[in-house]
This record gives sequence, C-alpha cells and structure tokens, in this order.
Amino acid sequence: MPIHEKSLLDPNKVLTAEKLVIDGVDVSGHWNTMILPRTVADYDPDFQKTIRALPGGENVHRCWQCGSCTNSCTMYAINTDFNPRYWIYCTNLGLQSEIVKDKDIIWQCVSCNKCTNICPKDVRPEGVMKALAHWLEMEGHTPKSRSSMFDEEFTRQCIERGRIEDSEVMFKFFKASGEDVKALLTGGWLRVFIERMNNLPLLKAGRIGAFLARLPITGPLKMGWMMLFKPRTRSWARTGAVLAAYVEEQKRKAHAHG
Ligand code: SF4
Ligand code: SF4
Repeated sequence: MPIHEKSLLDPNKVLTAEKLVIDGVDVSGHWNTMILPRTVADYDPDFQKTIRALPGGENVHRCWQCGSCTNSCTMYAINTDFNPRYWIYCTNLGLQSEIVKDKDIIWQCVSCNKCTNICPKDVRPEGVMKALAHWLEMEGHTPKSRSSMFDEEFTRQCIERGRIEDSEVMFKFFKASGEDVKALLTGGWLRVFIERMNNLPLLKAGRIGAFLARLPITGPLKMGWMMLFKPRTRSWARTGAVLAAYVEEQKRKAHAHG
C-alpha cells in the first residue's frame, strides 16, 4: 500500500469518536480515527509519462516509496517540506496540482545526489527533482531559470553555426537574465575576471617584463573577429538544419505529453 499523505486527506472524511468502547476496550479519541474512502478525479494519467520523457525523470516509475531519499536528503534536514519521496509519489499518481503547490520549493534541490546513491530502485530522485523543476518551468508555473536562459543561447549558437563564441554566449546570457553588464565590467567580478585573463595584476605589481612577455594579443583579436563575423563550422548548414529539426521534434513530444 502506498503511504497516505496527510495533505491529501479530505478533513471532512476523517472521523474520530470522542468516546468509543469496543468489546470492553476504550478506543476513544486518536485510537479510533477512521478515514472514509475518497475518490480523486483531478489527476492526469499521463503525468508520469510526461516526467519520464524529461531528462532525469526516466526512472520515476520504479519507486516503491521506501523513503530513503527523503531520509538522506540535505534539503529535508533543513526544511521538512522538501520531500522527494512525496513528489515522486504524486508524480506516479498524476497529482499535478500537488506538485504545483510546491513549485517554490522543488527547485531548491542542491544536487548533492545523496538520494540517488541511497535509492534501492535506481529511481535517481535528484534527476526527478530536475525533471519536475523543468516541467514547472515549461508549463509557466515558475519563471524561466537562469540555466535555461544560458542553455537557450548556447544551443542557438551550436545549431546556427556548429560552434560557440564564449564572449557572445556570456553577453547574450547577461542580457537575457537582466544583469547590469556595465556594473559588472566597472566594478563586479567580470572586471576582475577580465583583468586576470589579461594578466593585468602583473602590470599593477610593476612586473612590466612579465606582463609584456605574456601580453595577450591574438586571443582578444580572435575573439573580436568572431564576435563580428560569427563564422560557422564548414558545411554546417545541413547538419544544423537536421539538429534544429530534431530539437523541435523533442520539444513537440515533451509538450504532447504535458
Ligand atoms: S529511495 Fe528510491 S525507491 Fe525509495 S522512496 Fe526514494 S525514490 Fe522511491
Ligand atoms: S540531490 Fe536534491 S533531492 Fe537528492 S538528497 Fe540532494 S538535495 Fe535532496
């Protein structure tokens, strides 16, 4: 029998007699709690399939509800509402609305994979958390994540040109995610990053010779040239078209399940 979740109980169907004696045994109060059968109609019989079609969710159907994932979970130790076993249970029953209720918690999985290591059924709960977070995003229940924004730009360049230009990926990602690029360049970590890449700490330390010996010339020139002319891998057009069609097909399939 699956584990009954308190949050799934209809309070009107939980019966407890204040005073009840059966065969001379006093079973009053807590000990005589009865739960009347309840029919759940608002479930999606294909929800499990939807999650299995997403990366990480492939093995969700294998779960036998032992609870080891939740017991070992890093996040559960901090917040007992973070319950991978429960979300896997809801997924297999098609209870989408229960997943949506926890949309602001599921993404908090820190990918420590303790659950995956301990799971006796190779469900890979960490992957399921990712698949659920992905589904919530796909269905518009949560805003687009920064990792999705990064993936979109990275994938776009791969498909269009068969290669990526690092700086362009970064700047387009910053723009999409609303970062203040000017502030990052003038005083943030990006400034430190660029300074280090270009050996400026050597210059600041007065080590002119060492700086000149490592003077970055070709790298920035190549980067600028690529940003400007956006070269493609040779004979990429056909491969890119096949890849684009494949990606679209996968998206269609994922949405068809959803
Ligand atoms: S450890 Fe594995 S089998 Fe056990 S409840 Fe978690 S996912 Fe299910
Ligand atoms: S990977 Fe996520 S769900 Fe698994 S134990 Fe770590 S925090 Fe919990």
